[in-house]
Amino acid sequence: MSTPVYNRVALIGLGLIASSMFWAMKRGGLAGDVTGFAKSEASRDTARRIGLCDRVCDSAAEAVADADLVVLCVPVGAMGAVAKEIAPHLKAGATVTDVGSVKRDVIDAVGPYLPESVHFVPAHPLAGTEHSGPESGFAELFDNRWCLLVPVEGSDPEAVAQLRALWEGMGANVDEMDADHHDLVLAVTSHTPHLIAYTMVGVADDLRRVTDSEVIKYSAAGFRDFTRIAASDPTMWRDVFLTNKDATLEILGRFTEELFALQRAIRTGDGDHLHEYFTRTREIRRGIIEAGQDTAAPNFGREVPKS
Ligand code: NAP
Repeated sequence: MSTPVYNRVALIGLGLIASSMFWAMKRGGLAGDVTGFAKSEASRDTARRIGLCDRVCDSAAEAVADADLVVLCVPVGAMGAVAKEIAPHLKAGATVTDVGSVKRDVIDAVGPYLPESVHFVPAHPLAGTEHSGPESGFAELFDNRWCLLVPVEGSDPEAVAQLRALWEGMGANVDEMDADHHDLVLAVTSHTPHLIAYTMVGVADDLRRVTDSEVIKYSAAGFRDFTRIAASDPTMWRDVFLTNKDATLEILGRFTEELFALQRAIRTGDGDHLHEYFTRTREIRRGIIEAGQDTAAPNFGREVPKS
């Protein structure tokens, strides 16, 4: 067993990301002892039942006492309140990090509550599924995925390096990025695509009322993939859009302009425009596969479900 990167880790919030972190830390022997806390008794009971965390506590204050690393794994909109609650109980010299999908808002919400004696190193693992809750995590979630560290002004380089070692131990590739740049990149690669998926599934649902169950029955790959994304946790995604407002609106504006251009090409029968556009976008998929971020197998390598 390798030497732990941190002796004591506290996970606040026990959903998909926290539970995956716990199993990944156990797999790699990266943490000596892990405490956890979730808001509801139901989630805490589930965590105890499945052995998620070495000790599940009944308050966030109790979970963070003595922790060398505190990881905020709650929805982005809850980060500030949690930071306020735990601040008086943090050990001097501890590192506080988070896994929130938006960085500027989390830094502004959490930073002011933290005492000077602790290090603050925000982070965001670019890995997830449409599932949530304590039972949804698995040790391999971060393998070969990126984790972006977003150090704040004055972040201690040693604290940053230690957190990098943890994420690398959990299988991730690690990069550092500035908060505003992170929020713009994620608006393009994750946040706006989710909004588009939510919209498309909403449109199909409205149509379903007209065409009865055909939308579900004949659901083809394009729509099915949208439904997977649109099944993501409503609280998490509400908070993402409320807190990454400017970047999402900027990208949505560009998206709308492109959509109008494609709409016009369809109306005017401009096949060259459509063909050139689709040729360019196909290259993006090739790039993602070459970068090892997805499989080249048809239909994402999925097996056809047996009926
Ligand atoms: P999740 O599965 O829905 O779990 C959220 C957890 O936070 C639950 O255990 C919930 O407790 C707890 N919680 C909520 N408010 C709380 C509070 N005030 N105090 C203590 N615990 C609280 O969420 P997740 O997918 O792990 O996401 C967690 C964070 O990771 C979010 O900030 C999200 O933006 C980020 N993230 C998510 C993904 C993804 O794909 N899912 C990817 C990267 C980053 P209860 O169960 O008791 O309600």
